[in-house]
Amino acid sequence: TKDFSKYAPGYDIPALPGMRLEEVQTPALIIDLDAFDHNLVKMRDEITHYGVRHRAHCKMHKSADIAQLQINSGGACGVCCQKVSEAEALARAGIADILVSNEVCDPNKIDRLAQLPKLGARILVCTDDLSNIAELSRAAARHNTELEVLVELDCGGGRCGVTDSAAALELAQAILTTPHLRFAGLQSYQGSAQHAYEYAQRKALLDTAITITKDAVDLLASHDITCEIVGGAGTGSYPFEAASGVFNELQCGSYLFMDADYRKVKTKEGAHLPAFKHALFLLTSIMSIDIDGQAVCDAGLKAHSIDSGLPTVLDRPDLQSLVFSDEHGVLKDRANSLKLNDRLLLIPGHCDPTCNLHDWYVGLRNGFVETLWPVTARGKFY
Ligand code: PLP
Ligand code: MN
Repeated sequence: TKDFSKYAPGYDIPALPGMRLEEVQTPALIIDLDAFDHNLVKMRDEITHYGVRHRAHCKMHKSADIAQLQINSGGACGVCCQKVSEAEALARAGIADILVSNEVCDPNKIDRLAQLPKLGARILVCTDDLSNIAELSRAAARHNTELEVLVELDCGGGRCGVTDSAAALELAQAILTTPHLRFAGLQSYQGSAQHAYEYAQRKALLDTAITITKDAVDLLASHDITCEIVGGAGTGSYPFEAASGVFNELQCGSYLFMDADYRKVKTKEGAHLPAFKHALFLLTSIMSIDIDGQAVCDAGLKAHSIDSGLPTVLDRPDLQSLVFSDEHGVLKDRANSLKLNDRLLLIPGHCDPTCNLHDWYVGLRNGFVETLWPVTARGKFY
């Protein structure tokens, strides 16, 4: 157990273990630990069911403690992150298998990445460019380390990655013949499919993504190149990749916390994504009720991200989010039901950028603070 005695509650930290929810300083990120545990186990069951690995995406929570729990009790084979400094934070905290699921091109960043295996971690990175492969190799040679490299495919998301199998083959062959690099497979993530709310939309996008990925895997196989990893998938699409017979590694992130936008994603039967519960909440206090029909809370744009839509209020369908500014949130409260210092739990619109705004998670069970976890890689976007 951690020593919290050096932290002043309300200044350094929003709460201390043993406090009641009512004593937590607001605005604070709350994790419902029962829902969190449910989501951990649910994903473990899903990968067992489909017979694939899960490399949990830690850009979502940026917490080394949570990453360790995903590996130890959630069945994750390792983690993903997006940035070198995130990988540094996770490796320093003892996470031993880290994929930077992104291109790293800046020479200084490549140099830092190439040093990370010295911390005892397996380090993987994506590429979509021949000159980048040469740079990765030079840096790994300089530090006498090995980097594992995935060729990134653009399977329809229109972001990074090569757009045809011939280009993927050329890059894979280059990695295979380049010292200090190990070819580890393909990265094929369809980002724009994740939040497509209707099942038919997601299915169409994933049918294409899987066809593109299979074509590349098959072309490489015809040149005797095996992909140890064929990775991709997020919370919105993973059943498609997992059942494809093409992908063998998922990289879901948001499933662990969920958010208001993912709640809008529908299954084939038109239900909400059934598997995962809301585990992340923003605890906020009411600070003004002067205007008829509205209440103002202390969770503004510095406490949560509204890029994917406004938050909803837990168990209070009668309240609606209206406007958020730096330090204020205006809620519609038609019945004037709220009083000063009333507390609400908001379900953030988008979990990833919300988590990056906080230093601490407050883990709550049965109304009491059980633990606090630092947001280890908060602000680490270098
Ligand atoms: N993989 C990559 C490369 C991503 O960029 C993301 C998120 O954007 C994910 C996986 C995880 O997605 P989600 O948080 O929607 O599960
Ligand atoms: Mn996201």
